[in-house]
Amino acid sequence: MSDIDRHLTAEEIELWAEGLLPAAGAIHLAQCATCLATAERERQFFLKLARLERLAPSDEFTEKVMEGVRIRAGTESRGR
Ligand SMILES: [Zn+2]
Repeated sequence: MSDIDRHLTAEEIELWAEGLLPAAGAIHLAQCATCLATAERERQFFLKLARLERLAPSDEFTEKVMEGVRIRAGTESRGR
């Protein structure tokens, strides 16, 4: 049984929603209505989650991310 013939696991569907699913899984998804329906539900959930995180980011988190960006940008420009 190849990867393409096998139904996706919940874990794989989660990967798909995050855009990380390997090609074999994506091909199965394109051919399987059952998995596609599950995947669509999962994707809606992820979209909702992403929207919530964007609407209510903690100041501390934003600050840390920006700090990381500044540090990385500084390191890369130096010595080139
Ligand atoms: Zn399937």
